[in-house]
Amino acid sequence: MDPLNILIATPEAVPYAKTGGLADVAGAVPEAIASRGHTVKLILPLYSHIDRDKHKLQIIASGLKARIAGREEVFQVQKCEADGSEIWFIEHDGFFNRPELYRDPSTGEDWADNDERFGFFARAVLETCRHLRFIPDIIHCNDWQTGLIPALLKVDDGYNDFSKTATLFSIHNIAYQGSFPSESFDKLELDRSLFAPGGGFEFWNKVSYLKAGIWYSDLLNTVSETYAGEIKSSNEFGYGFEGVLADRSDDLFGILNGIDYNVWNPATDELIPARFTPEKLAGKKRCKNELRRQAKLPLVRRDVPVIGIISRLADQKGFDLIAEVADDLLSLDLQIVLLGTGDQKYHDLFAALHEKYPKKIAAFLEFNNQLAHLIEAGSDMFLMPSRYEPCGLNQMYSLKYGTVPIVRKTGGLADTIENANPVKGTGNGFVFTNYDSREMLNVVKFALEVYRDKNVWEIMMLRGMRQDFSWDASAGKYVELYRKALEKKRVSIEV
Ligand code: ADP
Repeated sequence: MDPLNILIATPEAVPYAKTGGLADVAGAVPEAIASRGHTVKLILPLYSHIDRDKHKLQIIASGLKARIAGREEVFQVQKCEADGSEIWFIEHDGFFNRPELYRDPSTGEDWADNDERFGFFARAVLETCRHLRFIPDIIHCNDWQTGLIPALLKVDDGYNDFSKTATLFSIHNIAYQGSFPSESFDKLELDRSLFAPGGGFEFWNKVSYLKAGIWYSDLLNTVSETYAGEIKSSNEFGYGFEGVLADRSDDLFGILNGIDYNVWNPATDELIPARFTPEKLAGKKRCKNELRRQAKLPLVRRDVPVIGIISRLADQKGFDLIAEVADDLLSLDLQIVLLGTGDQKYHDLFAALHEKYPKKIAAFLEFNNQLAHLIEAGSDMFLMPSRYEPCGLNQMYSLKYGTVPIVRKTGGLADTIENANPVKGTGNGFVFTNYDSREMLNVVKFALEVYRDKNVWEIMMLRGMRQDFSWDASAGKYVELYRKALEKKRVSIEV
């Protein structure tokens, strides 16, 4: 079959800019797809913290213009190459030269002009393609920040040269909706009649860039099959979009994220103090010692199980469950190392727990990639009690590092972690079903019990370490979806 020309538009990608799992995915997909013979370009904003020298960025276009809010904004495009694909960066200092991607750290609120920043980005992406004479077969958009791109292609006559381009819109987290006051619609300079209730932009009297992406893209996917089912069937998971998604049910697919074993692999990881494999586990002990040392947890008893947590500190991640049973949890024979940033209330919670139980819990309230690797390598278990989890990456990293996941059965966690049954010798983790702190506590107790039998534990660790969640299978599924979207587009043009 013919190779495809694919543009992947994203607000973040590893190793350039990251706030969460979307960045890992956007960083890994281009290589996985390019290695199948397709031409892939990745496009994202050039945030100020991206190191232009280190990534050898080169200006490839300047003096380009994109309209937003009645203004013509001038921008330039820089490029670098990585693993068989080109990375394009939209450079506009006014919009992207800021200390954080989406939020003003001085107020803790979203940047007040996020509507303009990502409204501009959508048009700038299309102008860049045009200028560089790369009219893709597929534009693969990711999350609300890119939601206007499929919409512009469908409703703005100015983009007729993209008439054969199909769009796939990937939802990495439906709770982030890019909703702005109704006046923001005028800044997009589209026909006002499009902002009608029940239309493609309006969501509870606001403009939602997420809705535009869902409504106007040719096909949709989210990052696990279970989450695809969850978000279209209940408000609890759909956050108001369940109806819109149910209407597009036939076009909505679930593709589990892969993980990048070039980055997350204890056999080769340069960020950890010792490497290890299923055949040679000794290095894991050294990592555990180093983790406990850095976390300033007592080292006297060597076999105390260490539970790691690495997460955005957001309601989604289940920290209210931990808060509810914190005293019981921390009276168990365990040590906890937490790494995370986010909502102040959770910073306060974990700082207070550390103060109360300094020998049981360490809290690193920061973003620290190297420490994330050490926690994966040095912990015995990894806790993810999420309220919802579109895919989740850390449970898959944990498996590879022999760190047994303890998860709630939701979204991608349900699709990747099977509850342990030591008698039958099955399972790769510990799973609880209801969003209930006592259930979580009980499953942690069960994990600690299993941990005491070193043979059973090692067999379980090894089972997880030998599983394969690489991008290979998922990349093939994305290419299938690209072709399906193109076919749908072709048929729609002919009708
Ligand atoms: P989400 O996208 O909802 O944040 P995922 O599990 O899909 O959750 O991905 C989270 C990614 O971000 C993982 O790679 C994780 O290691 C990383 N991460 C989250 N918080 C931190 C932190 N404080 N420091 C370093 N890495 C972090």
